[in-house]
Parts: sequence; C-alpha cells; structure tokens
Amino acid sequence: MFGSGMKVARRHRAPTWRWNDGWHGLARRVPSPNFGVRPAGAVIDLAVVHSISLPPGRYGSDAIERLFTNRLDPQAHASFAGLAGLQVSAHFVIRRDGQLLQFVPLQGRAWHAGVSHWRGRDNCNDHSIGIELEGLEGRTFSAVQYRRLAQLLRQVSRVLPLREVVGHEHVAPGRKHDPGPGFDAARLRRRLRGSGLALAWPAR
Ligand SMILES: [Zn+2]
Repeated sequence: MFGSGMKVARRHRAPTWRWNDGWHGLARRVPSPNFGVRPAGAVIDLAVVHSISLPPGRYGSDAIERLFTNRLDPQAHASFAGLAGLQVSAHFVIRRDGQLLQFVPLQGRAWHAGVSHWRGRDNCNDHSIGIELEGLEGRTFSAVQYRRLAQLLRQVSRVLPLREVVGHEHVAPGRKHDPGPGFDAARLRRRLRGSGLALAWPAR
C-alpha cells in the first residue's frame, strides 16, 4: 500500500524503439533470404510460438541464425545432418537471455509453420508471425523469455491486427510438438492481460 493515498502512476518504459519498415528497432537484425510475399489481402492476425535449439537442448550458439540464413554446416554436429538444404525462418527468435533477433520483416511471409491449419484456414505462414523461443519442447523456458515474448506480442499488436497466439503444436497437430508441455501458457496469459490477445492453450 502507498500511504499518500495518491494513485501511483504506472511506470511506462520510455519509447526508445520503433518499427522501421517491419523491423523491430531494438532487435538484432539477421536478414534471412527464406521468406516470400504474403497473399494479397492477407490479414496477419495470428502469432505462432515455436521452440528451437541447435543442437537440441544446447543453448547459446549461433546455429539457429546459421540455419535461418542457410549457413549451417551440416557436418558441424551429428544432429545437423537432417537439416541440410532446409530453407526455413521465423520472424523472431528470443534467446534464453531475452535477446531478440529478427530475420524477416513483419510484412514478409516467413517459413516457420509449414503444412498447417487453424480455424478454417490452411497455410498459417500466410497470415501469421512466427516467434521462436530458444528451448526444447518438453523443457521449460526462462522468465525473461516470457517477459520478452509478451512485450513483443504487444508491440506487434500496435502495427498488426493480432488476435490470437497459438503454438506450432496447435496448427500442425501430430506433426509438430513445440513449444510443448514445458511452455507455461498461464504465465504468458497473465502477462497479456488486457491486450485483447487470446491464447490457444486451454486455461488452467
Ligand atoms: Zn515449430
């Protein structure tokens, strides 16, 4: 409680960033060639949350950005062999320490969801933003990753009509399992309260 009886103003972060042609002003830019043009009239109202780590379960290397920019050496680790020639990307990666990387501008159609379907629409890449959390499906994510994710979703919502946040596992059930059961949707839901964004995960 505050003794003065005055309503304490909510602290707002100074607006030290802005969007520049679909690029987040504070993200580290790692431009990927792996994106296309969205269909005419596409309404970008979906955010798809993923998890990725290369090698799986190992954090902090530059392998993810190498993968998304077609520079990953398939011989560098046994687990990379199956990734040779793969052309994939996401708009954003949030590292374990909260660092934000951006690979594709918001208006670009990043290649993250693959064969997918959600609420009557196929090809979720057409109308979504893809956000990768550095992590491993089944394991947990760091506190700062939830903070950064919620902040990013709110920031994207300023410039796009986002309505719903889903997991890759929801739009490609059976084929994909990320971010997986270690993802604390309740925690993200609390952080998104009042944002108008719905979460696909069932409320607990
Ligand atoms: Zn995924």
